[in-house]
Amino acid sequence: MFSNYHTHTHYCDGKSDIQSIVIKAVELKLTTLGISSHAPLPFPCDWCMNSDQLDSYLDEIEVMKGRFHSMEIYKGLEVDFIPQITGPAQFKHKLDYTIGSIHFVEQFQSGKHWEIDGSHSVFLEGLKIIFSGNIKEAVTRYYEITREMVKSDTPDIIGHLDKIKIQNFGNSLFDEHDSWYQHELRKTLDLIAQHNTIIEVNTRGTYQGKTKEPYPGYWALEYIYKKKIPIVLNSDAHHPDQLIRGFTETLQLLQKIGFTEIMTLTDGQWKSQPINHINERLLNP
Ligand SMILES: [Zn+2]
Ligand SMILES: [Zn+2]
Repeated sequence: MFSNYHTHTHYCDGKSDIQSIVIKAVELKLTTLGISSHAPLPFPCDWCMNSDQLDSYLDEIEVMKGRFHSMEIYKGLEVDFIPQITGPAQFKHKLDYTIGSIHFVEQFQSGKHWEIDGSHSVFLEGLKIIFSGNIKEAVTRYYEITREMVKSDTPDIIGHLDKIKIQNFGNSLFDEHDSWYQHELRKTLDLIAQHNTIIEVNTRGTYQGKTKEPYPGYWALEYIYKKKIPIVLNSDAHHPDQLIRGFTETLQLLQKIGFTEIMTLTDGQWKSQPINHINERLLNP
């Protein structure tokens, strides 16, 4: 009984077609697979889907649903939330579920949106130009936008909640134990706890070697557990071989913290299921 709702395909920056991901997921005996390419954006973006591709993307997933019956297949998108520009609500009527993620914070004077999880040089450039080098203000704005999404355009799943830490290797910009940082993240989690949404535990940073802990990290997960916020386990796979990368270690971490349940989309409904079933399945495929 395990699943993955965060997977990318050729329709965006994923490295395989939809069918190859589906076949690999069947091989791995996943019970549920969600496809979630990056949604189109109303400005040029080299890792997003083109808007004229959306219909064929959705049709192709529909074909897969009809072809494979040993596993439930769901139609999703990872949608950027950019205030006043785009968000999950724009696409949810076409989908089984949405992942809402923040990849952009504010804009340069040219109108170009500042990408916070792209290259480190772009990150440093925006930090300097848009926030006068003030990392506290930049990170605070990132979490403010996240809260705006939770309140005004709630997705089914909150994508990689603390992704901004990808820029902070070696604590070069801030310390995740700083009180201002923890305050922002906790405030965001408090708000999430009041809304009907799920936090994904995303293993991509760890298997890419870019972060030491999953998104969100250890102490945030402890707080999520305390607040009883529901979670899913996702790998943000950009290749079929990444479908369950980092799952075993991360499940052990979640169990160590105390989590006993994880959410799953079954017959179109989000339900909780015991975590130990997933772990047994991973260890004894
Ligand atoms: Zn993302
Ligand atoms: Zn993603």
